Amino acid sequence: MPFVFSGRTAVITGAASGIGRALALALADQGMKLVLADLDLATVEGLAEEIERQGGRTLASRTDVSDPEDVERLAELADKEFGGTDLLCNNAGIMTADRYRPVWEFTLAEWKAMIDVNLMGVVNGLRSFVPRMLAQRTAGHLLNTASAAGLITGAISVPYSVSKHGVVRISEGLFAALRKRRAPIGVTVLCPGLVRTAIYAASGNQPEDGAEGFVFDETTAEPEEIARIALQAISQHRLYALTTTAFDKAIEARA
Ligand code: NAD
Repeated sequence: MPFVFSGRTAVITGAASGIGRALALALADQGMKLVLADLDLATVEGLAEEIERQGGRTLASRTDVSDPEDVERLAELADKEFGGTDLLCNNAGIMTADRYRPVWEFTLAEWKAMIDVNLMGVVNGLRSFVPRMLAQRTAGHLLNTASAAGLITGAISVPYSVSKHGVVRISEGLFAALRKRRAPIGVTVLCPGLVRTAIYAASGNQPEDGAEGFVFDETTAEPEEIARIALQAISQHRLYALTTTAFDKAIEARA
């Protein structure tokens, strides 16, 4: 069966690396036009060129998801160049170099950065893109990358976990609001466990720091696996919360 959004447009934030990059390659493979957004412009430009060489249509944008004006410009770019957005992947995220510090030891600047990027980044995306998608009156989809840490708080960074809990709750509220309006827009909230990308390495956390379950082991997923699961969930047009690794499988699906 052809992918539900073949020939249509996806905007992906945090597309330069890890899960965002894997999503970009997987969606390009399904014939989607892409707008690749990241703080790291050079890398998304390189990825865009790589996809173009394979026959895809792609734009790159230097976007900071924590800046509402930047995100609004991203939506305008997709409108101008591709006539709108059908799939928004709110994927950009950061993790503090926390080494399992207790909650009271995080600085206010660390809390602010985490909330501004991981939580408000998603809010900014929804504020700019959902009204446009509703106005299009065509089928659309919103994919929010939360985390298993958005379902349970363990020894991992508490500010990170709090920001990701917010993304899960926002996704549920979004789903309810869209259903009430009978909008043909699906919502997927991805809740992966550990994925082999730059973000976890950047956290500085090591197994010997004592966070059971948050170690690179046989349960660690590759970003391509997360992209594959995301595409499956998008095709099903549902609110979906799922974990792929260390935690018990927590799969929630609502028609
Ligand atoms: P990654 O570090 O490989 O990729 C994150 C990307 O987001 C980078 O390219 C970075 O430049 C970009 N980014 C960071 N701040 C940004 C900002 N303000 N505006 C725009 N772009 C920004 O990490 P990843 O693992 O691919 O992370 C993708 C998403 O997956 C994140 O939301 C992360 O929290 C989530 N996640 C990751 C894991 C994991 O174990 N890797 C697990 C669960 C959830």
